Amino acid sequence: MAELRNTVQGSLLENEPMAKHTSYGIGGPAWAYITPNDKFDLQNILHFASAENIQVYFVGSGSNLLVADEGIDGIVITLGKSFTHLEINGSHIYAETGVMLGRMVKECIKRNLSGLESMIGVPGTLGGALIMNAGAFGGEISNCLEKVEVMTLAGELKKYSANEIDFSYRHSTFREDEIIIGAYFELEEIDADEIQEKRNSASKGRKANQPLRFRSAGSVFKNPKPGLAAGYLIDQAGLKGTRSGDAEISEKHANFFINHGTAKASDIAKLIRIARKEVKEQFDVMLELEIKTLGFKEDVFTP
Ligand SMILES: Cc1cc2nc3c(=O)[nH]c(=O)nc-3n(C[C@H](O)[C@H](O)[C@H](O)COP(=O)(O)OP(=O)(O)OC[C@H]3O[C@@H](n4cnc5c(N)ncnc54)[C@H](O)[C@@H]3O)c2cc1C
Repeated sequence: MAELRNTVQGSLLENEPMAKHTSYGIGGPAWAYITPNDKFDLQNILHFASAENIQVYFVGSGSNLLVADEGIDGIVITLGKSFTHLEINGSHIYAETGVMLGRMVKECIKRNLSGLESMIGVPGTLGGALIMNAGAFGGEISNCLEKVEVMTLAGELKKYSANEIDFSYRHSTFREDEIIIGAYFELEEIDADEIQEKRNSASKGRKANQPLRFRSAGSVFKNPKPGLAAGYLIDQAGLKGTRSGDAEISEKHANFFINHGTAKASDIAKLIRIARKEVKEQFDVMLELEIKTLGFKEDVFTP
């Protein structure tokens, strides 16, 4: 740890509870939680980790993450607070990975640039959105993407054009050993009324259907196929309101599992197993996780 401290120029928090860095408010300590200052700092940290054989994990703002109660034995790196430069020239955008998606969406709407407005209200950073191919109300982050800049574990910078990465529903084929640094987009200028209408309808839909007063990580499971929502199946299985400790399958939206205050990762994991088991038994569908998990043993989510 002392050597790592000498290497890092940005912030390094030792045995940092991940509960402080996830929208669930859940998660045990990370051995080191690091926010590098810049690319050079990041490069040095990655070199150190690979020379010392220390496992590295990349996160954004933790709004799609469930971290185990036991924590993470390794280095967790976030660029969420330091890589926040956003540049808009006409319809061209360059954003660093730590830019909050909400900020980017609002700046585009202000300029009547269309492509991201249906994602108003999706929490998280640009990096997390690209990995997840985040989307809402018909729009996806990959739709207007041109290029992405990443750094490999060896500290090399690489660029991918959008067509070198496969994007599908809540899925992308970025390599797990590369960290997203920034991305380029091209949007389309449209009429101000049209963009406001799309924005308002997305915003209304979100407020009407999601339990936004409570801590969650959004949808826990992917929808099994277009037109068949995971939340519908969990609801039909009679599971709304099911609790484990302080965790609950939301009464408002059955695909949101909420933390009433002191829920543990093991509580959310138990609700995941229950939902999967019941939906499989009643509808012969095995639900696939949308949220990303860190620090768990392999079969924890198997019913
Ligand atoms: C109330 C609520 C509503 C939500 N609604 C939606 C919605 O409508 N649509 C939707 O798609 N999602 C939704 N989500 C989920 C979440 O907001 C998105 O998945 C978001 O894009 C995650 O961004 P993040 O920065 O928090 O990523 P994190 O949760 O920190 O990470 C997500 C994944 O990305 C990886 N990652 C993050 N940053 C990097 C990086 N720089 N380089 C490499 N890997 C990285 C992590 O390892 C992890 O695998 C919702 C969540 C909440 C809490």
